[in-house]
This record gives sequence, C-alpha cells and structure tokens, in this order.
Amino acid sequence: MGILKYAHDTDGYAIESTELSEERDRLERAQRNLSRKEHGSKNWEKQRTVVAQRHADLRRKRRDFLHKLSNYYATEYDLAVEDLDAKGLVELPGNSQNRARASWGMFLRLLEYKCERKGTHFVTVDTRATTKECASCGVETEKPLWVREHSCPSCGFEADRDANAAWNVLSRGL
Ligand SMILES: [Zn+2]
Repeated sequence: MGILKYAHDTDGYAIESTELSEERDRLERAQRNLSRKEHGSKNWEKQRTVVAQRHADLRRKRRDFLHKLSNYYATEYDLAVEDLDAKGLVELPGNSQNRARASWGMFLRLLEYKCERKGTHFVTVDTRATTKECASCGVETEKPLWVREHSCPSCGFEADRDANAAWNVLSRGL
C-alpha cells in the first residue's frame, strides 16, 4: 500500500487512489457556509443537513472504492499484505497520515473478511525494510522517498520501488 498509488501488487498492477478532492472541497465549502449562519436558525438547520449529506457522499465514494478493490483481490488471488501496525508513515504530514491509515485499515478489514468468506488465504506480513531490501538478493540499500526505482548496487536487479517492495511482502508471506 502506498501514497502515490493506493496499492501495488506482484502482477505489476498499481491501483490509483480514488480522487476524493472534489468531494472534500464540497464538504469544506458546506462547512464554511454553515459557520456563517446564525446558530440554531432555520437556515443553519438547513445547511446542517447539507453538511451531513456531503459527509455521506464522501464516505460512500471511499467505501465503494474499497469494496470493489477488496472484492477484486479476494476473488482473484491468495494474499500476503502489509501489516499496518508495522508500517512507517514518516513521509506524510499528520493529517494525511491519519487519513491514509484509516483508509488502509478499512481496506485490510474488508479484505480479511472477504477472504475468510471466500476461503482465500490471507496473511499479514511485517513489512519493515521491504522497501530497502532487494527482492532478488536481499541486500538492503537506503532509499529515500523520492527514489522511485529500485536499483540494486549488489546484484544489479532493477524494478519499480513499490514492485520491489511487493515482491518482498510476497516472499515473506510465503
Ligand atoms: Zn540485489
């Protein structure tokens, strides 16, 4: 799971995050609007239901995305996925960190539940150093976030940064 891409798998698929910025903008606009109304007035009450509606829109769109994605994976694959507790998120500012963690948490819960229902293998894996480690030879190399390619100084293996990490998750899961 990642920031630039929501998910990256060992078949080389990178899944884009859903675009929620429009829904977020609309929610914020509605909230600003609410704060300008006289508390408790008729208009305020009306605007409050608009805010609730915008919240619901946002939640529905995010849930749809996560349901579809988890359905797909629980149906098509046996799975080894990142353990969220071990995932470092140092690269993100606090607010988006909480948002990402909440979203990934929900994704994993859906995934686990659907795998159980379908009889799909599902394991979580401690992913410490899965980004640094070479999926081909196991040698660790420091890799700052802006380095998007894995290029191993030891064995010469080259791959997309997230693809390399996905391979490490899989081999630990196996
Ligand atoms: Zn290597």
